[in-house]
Amino acid sequence: MTPQQPSSGGSSTRFDPWYDHYAHRTAGLSASEVRALFAVASRPEVVSLAGGMPYVSALPTELVTGALERVMLNDGPQALQYGSGQGTPELREQILEVMALEGIRGSVDDVVVTTGSQQALDLVTKLFIDPGDVILAEAPSYVGAIGVFRSYQAEIAHVLMDDDGIIPEVLRETITRLKAEGKTIKFLYTIPTFHNPAGVTLSWERRLEVLEICKAHEILVLEDNPYGLLYFDRQAPNALRSIDDEGVIYLGTFSKTLAPGFRVGWALAPHAIREKLILANESAILSPSSFSQFAISEYLRSTDWKGQIDTFRGVYRGRRDAMLSALKEHLPDLSWTVPNGGFYVWVTLPESLDSKEMLPRAVKELVAYTPGTAFYADGGGRHKMRLSFCYPSEDMIRVGIRRLTSVINGELEL
Ligand code: PMP
Repeated sequence: MTPQQPSSGGSSTRFDPWYDHYAHRTAGLSASEVRALFAVASRPEVVSLAGGMPYVSALPTELVTGALERVMLNDGPQALQYGSGQGTPELREQILEVMALEGIRGSVDDVVVTTGSQQALDLVTKLFIDPGDVILAEAPSYVGAIGVFRSYQAEIAHVLMDDDGIIPEVLRETITRLKAEGKTIKFLYTIPTFHNPAGVTLSWERRLEVLEICKAHEILVLEDNPYGLLYFDRQAPNALRSIDDEGVIYLGTFSKTLAPGFRVGWALAPHAIREKLILANESAILSPSSFSQFAISEYLRSTDWKGQIDTFRGVYRGRRDAMLSALKEHLPDLSWTVPNGGFYVWVTLPESLDSKEMLPRAVKELVAYTPGTAFYADGGGRHKMRLSFCYPSEDMIRVGIRRLTSVINGELEL
């Protein structure tokens, strides 16, 4: 059992007097090792290619204020009240329309509204994981999911990816090996489309194969899809959930197609699971924010929300292009993924470089990124880094890549 760390408040050395009282599961709750550096990296003079913040300034303010005003005028008392633990019927209907854009057909009864998809990740993990159960996840995987899985004392088994996403043969081998070791595998957590952090997308053939493998081994699939509608050239293959509605729990969110401040996401569960999910939601939060749900319903009803998603796509496409061309110009010897949507480029550094060790030097040179190790539960990713192109302008991205180039070249000369 890893002991609790002393308070991580800056340079404080005061030990927590409740040190011996915490539940065992909190051993998995550790502040990101690079959190302190990111506080420095949020200074305006630093070009941050680190965070995954959507560029909400591309959303015209009046679209939101208009919706908020109408909610208060027309539905004020209800919007300010507690609501159903499953979410409002109107928003759940509208969520079906959003998911239909990625080929998903579901029932309004099976949609559960949550406080962002992050909370849905927590609920699903709470429902299925006993300490020591195994969750399969791509290598690398979303840092926020790894944190949730750890907080429930899951064992995380990574499965290798390439440019077409998770590799089915490796998935098969991993399952066989873990079963031979007597492990209980509960689910596969996957981000098939515009992966965070890898930027890649699972091909259609592999989608079918991955589902077949999981079905054969009775492994549930947890499909996390925050970026699917943010494609740049052509739409990605349809969601896993569009192929299999009994073995896939699908997670969606309004965080990237509208704004994360509403904190509204959802799970589309297989019918058999939904009741437990609703109970878990009620026990965690009573009901998702009525106000946010009313506001989003009004926004979807009264604005050209698909046109707004096009606007976001245009902004992110320009930023992706700026990042890729700057990488090509300045760092031609490195390799990186080419995302067709989403927010991230995944860069492979020369083996001799350690991206975590290099970060303080980068921040000193006024550029930040996320070191690869953040996205692995097993210490992998030392010579990888995630670069986000979602937030800084195209010009700032070019400045950032130039600074990063001087840091990398400086390290290689040492
Ligand atoms: N899953 C993935 C893959 C993400 O990138 C994020 C946000 N960075 C989330 C889930 C959580 O998003 P939210 O809670 O805002 O819906």
